[in-house]
Amino acid sequence: MALFGKLLPRVGGAETRTFRAAAADVLGPRRAPCPACDEGTLVPSTTDLGARICEACGASFPLEVLRQTIAADDETIARVAAASRREALIAFLAADGVAVGSAIWAVAAGGLPTLVGGTALALLLLAFAATARYRAWQVEHRRLFETRPPIGAWLRAETRGD
Ligand SMILES: [Zn+2]
Repeated sequence: MALFGKLLPRVGGAETRTFRAAAADVLGPRRAPCPACDEGTLVPSTTDLGARICEACGASFPLEVLRQTIAADDETIARVAAASRREALIAFLAADGVAVGSAIWAVAAGGLPTLVGGTALALLLLAFAATARYRAWQVEHRRLFETRPPIGAWLRAETRGD
């Protein structure tokens, strides 16, 4: 019993960490590939707010240059935006399915943990759907690589319905 008591928090901790890692993976910003080496991804520079640096080769790119590179390619923009909107719709429908499914299961089997787990998964899927819609809007309105994420402007656009 003492051993069980010792193991329990550790198992809980590991599961929480995995869930958090999964959530960070889903919710985190999708990083752009490095234009110089095509291997690394671009991360915010710690010294220069107006630049991104490559994790692999260390090349530095001013945000202005990255914005112009993105804005030049209409075909890619249309493709990425369409793919993101599709992802958002699928995640939204999956969230609905999980919420309804876990509610039915919880009632049938009388299990509260099923409902709690189902709700958590549904919320995660909804957050993923919102992230995908945000990405689609960002790409379509060329609001990439800004010093501050334009989340406020996106929310206003979503509530206006355009
Ligand atoms: Zn690189």
